Amino acid sequence: MNDRTPTLSDETLEGYGMRSKARCRVARPRSPAELAAAFRAASASGQTVALRGAGCSYGDAALNAGAIVVDCSLMNRILAWDPTTGEATVEPGVTIADLWQHTLADGWWPPVVPGTMAVSVGGATAANIHGKNNWRDGSFGEHVTRFTLLLPSGQVVECSRDANADLFYAAIGGMGLLGAFISITLRLRRIYSGLVHVRQTAHPSLAELLAAVEAGTRDATHLVGWIDTAARGRQLGRGLLKAMREPAPGEDPNPAASLDPASQPPSGRILGVLPVTWIPVLGKPMASQLGTRLANRAQWVRGNLPGADRQHDERYVPANFMLNFIPNFKSIYRPGGLIQHQSFVPRDAAPAVFREILARSQAAGLAPSLAVLKKHRPSPFLLNYLVDGYSLALDYAVPRRVEARMAALMAELNALVADSGAFFLAKDSTLTAADFRRTYAPETLARFAALKAQCDPHELLQSDIYRRVMRPALAATFQATREPTRRDATAPAS
Ligand SMILES: Cc1cc2nc3c(=O)[nH]c(=O)nc-3n(C[C@H](O)[C@H](O)[C@H](O)COP(=O)(O)OP(=O)(O)OC[C@H]3O[C@@H](n4cnc5c(N)ncnc54)[C@H](O)[C@@H]3O)c2cc1C
Repeated sequence: MNDRTPTLSDETLEGYGMRSKARCRVARPRSPAELAAAFRAASASGQTVALRGAGCSYGDAALNAGAIVVDCSLMNRILAWDPTTGEATVEPGVTIADLWQHTLADGWWPPVVPGTMAVSVGGATAANIHGKNNWRDGSFGEHVTRFTLLLPSGQVVECSRDANADLFYAAIGGMGLLGAFISITLRLRRIYSGLVHVRQTAHPSLAELLAAVEAGTRDATHLVGWIDTAARGRQLGRGLLKAMREPAPGEDPNPAASLDPASQPPSGRILGVLPVTWIPVLGKPMASQLGTRLANRAQWVRGNLPGADRQHDERYVPANFMLNFIPNFKSIYRPGGLIQHQSFVPRDAAPAVFREILARSQAAGLAPSLAVLKKHRPSPFLLNYLVDGYSLALDYAVPRRVEARMAALMAELNALVADSGAFFLAKDSTLTAADFRRTYAPETLARFAALKAQCDPHELLQSDIYRRVMRPALAATFQATREPTRRDATAPAS
């Protein structure tokens, strides 16, 4: 096997939000042997390594300022696929797009998908991502049956629920800090059509929207709420609920046609008329407060038009990944970039916390351009961020002139969420170690710190988010859990 050390190139990398940027030395291994060689070379030169998949995290989870980034995107082979069981074994750089293109014609779909199909399976596993079916089908990691992890020492460990279970439960959601996934086996979901039934309904307040989400769980397979960020007072939190239901066996008279991957991409036109390439131009005003108000109002009005709540069928791919078909979508937010703030709040606390978040944003003159609501259930992984409740994901445009006000708002919102909820590191760019630490039991962070010390004693694996948030939180927990021991040592023996 070729184990040459991949060459390093100096590059400026950024997170999806375009605000976290870092000059890094980037290696792109093509095989596990090359990845191991990159680890050895970094170790020998005393440098640290951050792992990177497709770079779709919003902030600094896959950046390593002044040091090495191992980009796994060229390790992108599908190693095994069984169309009878739906089990796939893939290299970490295989994307969700690669996966569905390979499996759709056989009637299988990735079990959990995010809002873009560009993410890699390695990145999806490391962040334990969630989809619009989270309350029902769990997180991405719940569908991973086993993986092979390359430790910084060069040791290769096979992990599953039965073998090296500690590491299995910690590396899923462990943000690439314990080792590198070099192969991942997961189970896909059986589907019987390439179409999905969709119905969108309008709800005039947050309470009614949340009630509709709960009612929707009875027969929807996927649920996602859109909230009008311009609405105030009694209408604060009003929104539209998109409920999707996958057809049962036999419902689609011609599944072979709808499951043909070539039939999936959208037309390239909005409402069948405007080219999607116009969206970044038409959407540019969304980065201003006036534009945000008008666009949100227009969406609410459109969602209330007669017939807007009629059930219709959509193809899987546009229903899940419309953003991937709008070239340069993100340019709406240039040059300042965007912050996505996603808070996960338990069911009982969520209505008050979400109202407060929306109201404080409006009061600061910083209403988000987009607000998305999802329903969740906790996952069994060590660094679990999912709750029995809901999440609210907010996109904030950050023109240069509002940066200071935005930082103050984010600090306020993070402190508020940390009282009862949790944060998703893959989306984060504003969290402090102190607020992160408040969202986990000390034993959980101590357990992760112990595994980090065991798998990576020299801290080869680091990233900007590790140094900004996780490492100080782990260190403070370690300190706090050590304190009683010191006191114990001076206490009189009984
Ligand atoms: C438009 C958009 C919509 C999104 N919607 C959702 C959503 O609905 N739900 C959701 O949960 N997330 C969502 N995300 C976030 C996204 O799913 C996560 O950030 C995901 O982790 C990105 O995967 P990636 O391949 O780009 O990984 P990167 O961003 O490159 O890396 C993510 C993490 O994975 C680690 N990593 C990468 N490769 C490996 C490896 N081989 N071994 C070990 N660790 C590794 C990195 O170190 C890093 O910590 C969205 C992102 C975008 C841009």
